[in-house]
Amino acid sequence: MRILQVSAEIFPLLKTGGLADIAGALPPALLAAGCDIRVLLPGFPAVMAGLKDPVRVGAFGTPWGDQVEVLFGALPAVSQGAHTVFAYVLSAPALYNRPGNPYEDAHKQAYADNHRRFAALGWAAAHLAHGLDRLWRAQLVHAHDWHAALAPACLAAWNDGRGARVPSVFTIHNLAYQGVFWPQNFPDLGLPGPMFSMHGLEYYGQISFMKAGLTYASHITTVSPTYAREIQTPEQGCGLDGLLRDRAGSLSGILNAVDDHVWNPAKDVHLKHHFDVRNMAGKALNKAALQTEMGLAVSADAPLFAVVSRLTEQKGLPLVLAGLDEIIGRGGQLLVLGNGDTALEQAFAHHARGNPAQIAFRTGYDESLAHRIFAGSDIIQVPSRFEPCGLTQMYGLKYGTLPLVRRVGGLADTVTDTDLETLDNQSATGIVFNEFTVEDYRHAVRRAFALYHRRSDWSHVRQTGMRIAFDWATAAQRYTTLYESLIQAP
Ligand code: ADP
Repeated sequence: MRILQVSAEIFPLLKTGGLADIAGALPPALLAAGCDIRVLLPGFPAVMAGLKDPVRVGAFGTPWGDQVEVLFGALPAVSQGAHTVFAYVLSAPALYNRPGNPYEDAHKQAYADNHRRFAALGWAAAHLAHGLDRLWRAQLVHAHDWHAALAPACLAAWNDGRGARVPSVFTIHNLAYQGVFWPQNFPDLGLPGPMFSMHGLEYYGQISFMKAGLTYASHITTVSPTYAREIQTPEQGCGLDGLLRDRAGSLSGILNAVDDHVWNPAKDVHLKHHFDVRNMAGKALNKAALQTEMGLAVSADAPLFAVVSRLTEQKGLPLVLAGLDEIIGRGGQLLVLGNGDTALEQAFAHHARGNPAQIAFRTGYDESLAHRIFAGSDIIQVPSRFEPCGLTQMYGLKYGTLPLVRRVGGLADTVTDTDLETLDNQSATGIVFNEFTVEDYRHAVRRAFALYHRRSDWSHVRQTGMRIAFDWATAAQRYTTLYESLIQAP
């Protein structure tokens, strides 16, 4: 099967969140599963720099009159062993040659021409499904998130006179980011006029890229089974729950996995002290090193609660701020690595200044520090309001760092709460709370302390978590089965 994966980010070349981790891990896993998969990416500087031996395979005209060149080459940084990942990259400096965040400028303002930047990506996918590269033609397009969501619409609009429609899969990584633009931009998309309607990509008078993906994809997936159900409700549907209910027969959840080449405490390149489930001595050394690095009191006994996250309301960080005294008053420590919302950054920085022995805050994006935090902490907190899948709780599980999470989305699918029964049957892997309230969060923190002080139970829960595979082979198999069924569908 020839599959074209379309995304705006790919780890390790360009990452703003979990989307990149998935876009980087899925292609090698699909290659290993026997899929002929290639990726399509915008030519952001970091992507251009990672493309080896590029050759020009063709060009196409945009609806607004520019030419976009399509390059082809290998991505050594994304490849794994014998599985070389090949990529098509859009060379259009006017659209993509902007350093830093791929979507917004240095003042955190979305670029005014984002609709063009990502419409070009959608059209490139359609061209590659219809012969732009005469040596390889995609049989199915797999588009990720709103940036790639115009691809299914472009495929639906494509008319080559033969009537054959190339199937597409659209994966929602976060329904809250929708790619909504003013209606006067519609001519720039190059789509037929009737598509700007309630049954197309029109959304309360505006253009919604997300809605284009949801409407025109042959099948929709999201990154956990629970989130697939939740987004069909008004509470979590972000205004699109009606459409998602209509498409329920073509909507499923495939749980993300963890890339063992990147996230494995036994061989993690960012760690000085390696460890595994049978030999945990290195974890204690990582904890002491982390406490020293962060200026926290070096104490093996103080439970170290961590957060590695975009700082947004979604991630439940106001709960962490409101329940801070519950951790600090009991002798615990809090370490936060995150960037985003200025008010949240200031609040954590303020607390850290007031009590540097127990609270540390680092802003910015630091991949290496994130690894050291997962390895050196005791508890990773993900108290999200909503969470499509969530990766950090899975990284925590692999690194023997117990997740403290809210029972929502992928968090509910990946963490088993600790109670007498789950301790007894050895399925407990963390602390899970239900309501998005400070009281419930505080209760969860108190339960984490109680478990931490029962050393033998703590160690058993940790071992159960570390033994969970979360392997990409299983997820890749599910995607392959889906691709097959869509390609073979009449
Ligand atoms: P989301 O995609 O909503 O941000 P996920 O949990 O799916 O949340 O993925 C977040 C990814 O980004 C993880 O790989 C996490 O380690 C990483 N991450 C988040 N914030 C930072 C940061 N400030 N520095 C380094 N890595 C971060």
